[in-house]
Amino acid sequence: MMDTYTYQIGENLYINLTNRCSNACTFCVRNEKASYYGNYLWLKDGEPSAQTVIGEIGDPKRYKEVVFCGFGEPTYRLDAMLEIAAYVKAHGGTTRLNTNGQGSLIAGRDIVPLLVGKIDRVNVSLNNATKARYEEVCKPKFADGYEAMLRFGQDCLKAGLDAWFSVVDVIGAEEVEACRRLAKELGVPLRVREMITDS
Ligand code: SF4
Repeated sequence: MMDTYTYQIGENLYINLTNRCSNACTFCVRNEKASYYGNYLWLKDGEPSAQTVIGEIGDPKRYKEVVFCGFGEPTYRLDAMLEIAAYVKAHGGTTRLNTNGQGSLIAGRDIVPLLVGKIDRVNVSLNNATKARYEEVCKPKFADGYEAMLRFGQDCLKAGLDAWFSVVDVIGAEEVEACRRLAKELGVPLRVREMITDS
């Protein structure tokens, strides 16, 4: 079977650029060995080139959003992501990045300025309200992964991107409330998502 580089859910097209990630979340969809909405997102034949993905996208105006997501952290493919996003924007589409917020640590430099004009919307996974909980649940390989993630959400907003933190409702009402308070303190909107249990 061919690897899945792009897949449609609802009106959106999702781009699966990499299986690499700087976290190892206990709830990660990567732990679902089989499928994700019927899509097999493990890249057996390696990561796709920007041109391959652009070829699959075609006319981006057919989709509500083109979303960099998948079984891994898209910012590991920063150059490819920016090239694809530039194509989507140049052809009248809308882009979103779903990220763990550690892209600047991964790249070793501040990547937020590079996103401006290419990425419209940024969903940063906050996951938990404290560093201790984040480290327990997301197991970041960077010691300052948590702080970098918080800063990334703020920096994206400051740069004029439509950014927000997201949490999944399974963390429980109390933790959601704590996340709400933290997000408010940091001046970043918070969105609460439902748990995805497809396999
Ligand atoms: S940040 Fe996302 S891709 Fe990475 S381990 Fe966590 S849930 Fe999986």
